[in-house]
Amino acid sequence: MKKLKLFSAMFFIISAQLFAQGFSDIVHVNPNYQPAKNLNGVMTLTQETIKEVVIIAMDPGSSFVLPDWFDPLFELHLPQYFSQSTHANFIYQPTVLKRDATHAYEMLTVPSQHSHGTNNMQYVLQTADATVNFALYDWNNDGIVELHFTSIGPGNWGVAYVGGWYSYEYITNDQGSNGLIKVRVNHESRGINRDNYYGVIVHEDGHFYFGFDDQEHEYLTTFNHWGLGSFDAMSHILGFYDDQRVFTQPSPYNPTYSAVKGWI
Ligand SMILES: [Zn+2]
Repeated sequence: MKKLKLFSAMFFIISAQLFAQGFSDIVHVNPNYQPAKNLNGVMTLTQETIKEVVIIAMDPGSSFVLPDWFDPLFELHLPQYFSQSTHANFIYQPTVLKRDATHAYEMLTVPSQHSHGTNNMQYVLQTADATVNFALYDWNNDGIVELHFTSIGPGNWGVAYVGGWYSYEYITNDQGSNGLIKVRVNHESRGINRDNYYGVIVHEDGHFYFGFDDQEHEYLTTFNHWGLGSFDAMSHILGFYDDQRVFTQPSPYNPTYSAVKGWI
């Protein structure tokens, strides 16, 4: 079951071609979603503060400078999104690791879809490890730093590893209370521009932090009507644009999921 979930999470791809067509009329649904099953579950209020460690990577051989929207996205907009979407029950406090104020860590190769790849993750973490003391981010003192590995570049995809799975483990040179600190990459994201990148992150975090299943992704071409399309970040990452066609933020998580979490 866990493998299946991982597999479906990995196939979250949206092509540039689809973006050219307008968004709100693309509705495909996930036939495996069973709302009644979820609603019969025990509703427990999920309330937590997440101190997420994020490492930002860039493609090789470019002079890529982080865009103006990057810092505000992590410092302001993502915390705001999570607070609003969860009625202030999820407090998101990211620590973003980057090469310097305006540069990401450089990768060895342009990643293929679905994951950044072991070679890139190893290289980036090695580079970071030379100057970063990862022990500072082992807040629960278990010797493991959970990490969100992310990049900006061509492609829109992400992957979330749930149930203790991770895509890569790196042993740092930093001493913790029980030996060297390990870094585990347990979710990854990549986006081509702010709007898509923002959507991918809240979608994958929906899997990772809340255990939400996919509702519908482009390319899952079934035609039942359980999904919520643009009304739900687990269905369609882009949500709505205002009447000036300006994107503000992705849609929140759907009411069924929010109710299960006790947020509404
Ligand atoms: Zn997904």
